[in-house]
Amino acid sequence: MENIHGKCVCGAVEIIIKEYGNFVYACHCDNCRRQNSGAVLSVDPGSAKNVVFARGEDKITRYQDEEVYRGFCSVCGTNLFWHKPSDDHYCMNAELFDDIIRNASFELELFYDVKPDYYSFAGERKKLDSQFREIGAKTEP
Ligand SMILES: [Zn+2]
Ligand SMILES: [Zn+2]
Repeated sequence: MENIHGKCVCGAVEIIIKEYGNFVYACHCDNCRRQNSGAVLSVDPGSAKNVVFARGEDKITRYQDEEVYRGFCSVCGTNLFWHKPSDDHYCMNAELFDDIIRNASFELELFYDVKPDYYSFAGERKKLDSQFREIGAKTEP
């Protein structure tokens, strides 16, 4: 897909991903869960070249969380993105983008070892722990 539009709850911030498929992943890390009241479902558009802040960039507050910035709408509080400047890497709240989540391919869960026990997503997919090692991989008998 090209020029995929996303927006926050209040609409003050609009973001366009220039080019993307339908890959969605979940992050269960402590700070994502604390910020979002649960696992955050994300898309991975990559570098800033693939992202356009089409409206309300002045409404975005960036909170520095160790080596990444967590961006949110200062009007409505919607989690917008996670940006790592050292890699010029954006990941964004998948739920901003109706056209992606309509037919999402949910293929990966991160920080699965710190996920609390009281919830889990249905279905099977690749799971990585806090050190990005694959867990729950089937081993040959
Ligand atoms: Zn907003
Ligand atoms: Zn996280």
